[in-house]
Amino acid sequence: MRTPLVAGNWKMNKTIAEADELASKLSASLREISGVDRVLCPPFTSLMAVSRLLVGSDIGLGAQNMYWEEKGAFTGEISPVMVKELCNYVILGHSERRAYFGETDETVNRKLVAAEKFEITPIVCVGETLDEYESSRTREVVSRQTSMGLKNLSAGFALRMVVAYEPVWAIGTGKASSGKDANSVIKDIIRPALAQLYGENTAQAIRVLYGGSVTAVNAAEFFAQPDIDGALVGGASLKPDEFVAITKAAVK
Ligand code: PEP
Repeated sequence: MRTPLVAGNWKMNKTIAEADELASKLSASLREISGVDRVLCPPFTSLMAVSRLLVGSDIGLGAQNMYWEEKGAFTGEISPVMVKELCNYVILGHSERRAYFGETDETVNRKLVAAEKFEITPIVCVGETLDEYESSRTREVVSRQTSMGLKNLSAGFALRMVVAYEPVWAIGTGKASSGKDANSVIKDIIRPALAQLYGENTAQAIRVLYGGSVTAVNAAEFFAQPDIDGALVGGASLKPDEFVAITKAAVK
């Protein structure tokens, strides 16, 4: 019953002109695909240009981050009100933000609560680092990130949230998890933690994506798994043919 979703995280890539070119190519092909929600997440500076190219389509537009306050003296930050002007999605708690910009479960949660207030669909990332993976701490870390970071939502909004399981050791490394392993983490760790917060029915209805070195070659392996509802794609989302192929593979 969960509609698959494929989101492209362009990270800190593309000038406005380059984003315009990439989004033009993508939007032409992605418009033709149904049965999977498609979301593009360019950098803030290109959101306006990309939003113009998506007019009249049901392709979603997402920011890669936002602050939780509505406005004020927070130099360099972007508020939910500003994000909402252009976007219907926002990526929160990406591991690069946790590793390089000091995001914690607490700040991720404040942003998530702000996303509910301003009705922006969050794509919230959780996942263990290589060190945590190698020391068998995946359960402890992913369970904590889910229960601390994803709490305090209304049951209605929780249903709308999208979670992305992104093992940090798989991001941008070319070393993807296996479909089976990723499915186990989602089924045995993430959904039970969501069930503790919002009940079993809601936990089963929330879409959970896999992210980490997804390509056109390995995508089908992830999408064949019963608990994986799509992908958050980094590097491959900058290659139009590859991203379109991944999106097509997500159609059930
Ligand atoms: C990401 O940035 O969320 C990601 C999964 O990156 P990549 O696909 O490049 O591993």
